[in-house]
Amino acid sequence: MAGPLQLEFVSSAKRVGDLPESPAEVALVGRSNVGKSSLINALANRKQLARVSNTPGRTQLINLFALPTGATVVDLPGYGFAAVPTREKATWQPMIEGYLLGRESLQALLLLVDAEIGPTKLDLQMLEWVYANTIPTVIVATKCDKVRPSRLAGRKQQLARACRLEEGDLMWASASKGTGIEQLRAHIRVLLQT
Ligand code: GDP
Repeated sequence: MAGPLQLEFVSSAKRVGDLPESPAEVALVGRSNVGKSSLINALANRKQLARVSNTPGRTQLINLFALPTGATVVDLPGYGFAAVPTREKATWQPMIEGYLLGRESLQALLLLVDAEIGPTKLDLQMLEWVYANTIPTVIVATKCDKVRPSRLAGRKQQLARACRLEEGDLMWASASKGTGIEQLRAHIRVLLQT
């Protein structure tokens, strides 16, 4: 089926153990400000499903959305927000690692990287960790409308190399322009078999 993902917000949790069960799930993670909320809104074609540019603190939870089939999409809190207090930084890592290692229904992690400035040092740390823990991961380059067309080919090559991927394994998306959104929806549907 084509068209927007019919996501509805279900619940938020601090721990993986507090999430409702799911038959199949994909999760999104990335540096704060990478465009994760905008991307979720674009996937669902909804303006405010996930909040855009939220203040840190309110986004420090695992947010779960469900499709009509019962399959789920999880919005994981972003990393690397300078203004987040140390106390919250210390809870981020066990929360995310607990989720990624403990969520049985997880089919794949979508790791969002800024198409223009990524991967950052924190993105690479995250990537090393998911590779080391064999978490099935798809890299999505966000805000690709910001890369000038003349630089696009070079940037794709650079980004893929830095992420140790083939260029074809990177997905390119722009929530603002709609680029790559339908491909990403289709990919998520395949992962969720929905
Ligand atoms: P989050 O913190 O990862 O959830 O990021 P947001 O979705 O809140 O977006 C952060 C900022 O990037 C906002 O100012 C958005 O308007 C902007 N942004 C998000 N997606 C895009 C995009 O595809 N293209 C451009 N140019 N800006 C975007």
